[in-house]
Amino acid sequence: MSFFSDLLFSFKPRCPACRQGRLFKPWSLSAVDECAICHAKLGQNDVGDGASVFLIFLLGATVIPLALLFESLVHPPLWVHAVLWGTVMLGLIIVILPAVKAYIILLEYRHRSLK
Ligand SMILES: [Zn+2]
Repeated sequence: MSFFSDLLFSFKPRCPACRQGRLFKPWSLSAVDECAICHAKLGQNDVGDGASVFLIFLLGATVIPLALLFESLVHPPLWVHAVLWGTVMLGLIIVILPAVKAYIILLEYRHRSLK
């Protein structure tokens, strides 16, 4: 498996074993207990807060400098910062968090002997 196929996998989360079954429970970021297609035990993979911590570092290192640059160039009122950066951060979290979590589950499934 190449890095790019892993990246595509993470943005369309599927079972890391067969790449067809659903990875997350509906409307949740919890992994299903068992793949409906290949019966791989996916509930044993526990990513904990790993995805959230990674995302905090990633977004903090990218969005905060943008906010500081925006402040130094435009000098908007404080409520503009709150609305703008709150919306940007929430949108990025909604898009990226499931992908990061799926990628960590993929790596955990591949490198652990829980199969
Ligand atoms: Zn499967």
